[in-house]
Amino acid sequence: MEENIPTSMFAWRKHRGSAKPVWSQAISLIFVWEEVPVPETPSTGVLCKMLASGVCRSDHYLLALDDNRPWFQERFTLGHEGCGRIVRMGNDTQGSEFKIGDIVAMHAVPGCGKPECSECSRDLSQLCERCHHSGIGQDGFYAPYAAVDIRALVLVPESVSLAEAAVATDAVTTAYHAIRRRGEVKKTETIFLFGLGGLGFNALQILHAIGARVIVSDLRENLLKDAAKLGIPKADLIFPGQPVQEFVNRNGLAGKIDTVLDFVGTHQTFEDAQQIVRRGRKLVCIGTLNTENTIHMKLGIRKRLSIIFSYGGQVSDLQEILQHLATGSIKPQVEYAILKDFPAILKDLTEGKIQSRVALMHEEAGQE
Ligand SMILES: [Zn+2]
Ligand SMILES: [Zn+2]
Repeated sequence: MEENIPTSMFAWRKHRGSAKPVWSQAISLIFVWEEVPVPETPSTGVLCKMLASGVCRSDHYLLALDDNRPWFQERFTLGHEGCGRIVRMGNDTQGSEFKIGDIVAMHAVPGCGKPECSECSRDLSQLCERCHHSGIGQDGFYAPYAAVDIRALVLVPESVSLAEAAVATDAVTTAYHAIRRRGEVKKTETIFLFGLGGLGFNALQILHAIGARVIVSDLRENLLKDAAKLGIPKADLIFPGQPVQEFVNRNGLAGKIDTVLDFVGTHQTFEDAQQIVRRGRKLVCIGTLNTENTIHMKLGIRKRLSIIFSYGGQVSDLQEILQHLATGSIKPQVEYAILKDFPAILKDLTEGKIQSRVALMHEEAGQE
């Protein structure tokens, strides 16, 4: 017997251009809490009752964005980090590993997986323009129900919390993809990590689990103290007020840093990164606090550097991460709120008041 699923629901949605902003900063953010139909179940997908969804800085970016990517709808439900319980299965999902009642992590951009797709066929599913993009221009997870393709799902191991599973889909996956797939970080390497925010702190745990030495820089002392609690030696933490290049030279790290992971992306971190990385090695860029930075051509060529960009992550990353979460080798820091709180949480996030990641818990999860 199918449980009682309503036909409509309230969701946090972006309206492009028109409606009155609920809350505005320097830029006007157009988003509304409105009643919409519960989504149809796609034939190759599922309908989930949402349990938890993570709030991401890019929610703010998406709200402020006015130039639309090809798949963007004029109005859509926000939220691109999700964990839910399957309540309906599409007609063409027989024989899949999933069934009604399963608790699943939901990847926002699973890719279409078609051999004729120029991105999916090159293992770049996060860049696919043909698949559904949950919460990124198309209906996502800040609603009681969400529909996704079966390709987006990963079963959540029992020991992993709903909130952890939700934030794993983007905040952890993006860090993991940058480290494993783009940086190809190895246990024997020395890594320099800029930034311990929502993504960076997960990155630190991933690097720690790999066993690489990590030198960490952040402007927030309390986050560096959290890094120390994780087991990072005090001598490898760069506290505010210590210029990075000076620290590297003074501590015998010159010519020893194999890879710089920049989760900040300011003029200063990008400058430091080029200076401190050892010859023949690489910078991995993930943060974009400054949208333009300067590359020193002579330095880059003489050191034969690789400057690599990373964007998002893939369902295969998410599968590996959930195994790490199950064993406890990665433990994402999560704070809790409820779905109704989204505007206040987003405001706090953009004002730097949130140190980790907030998961919005949905009604059913709250009762558990
Ligand atoms: Zn995000
Ligand atoms: Zn595709």
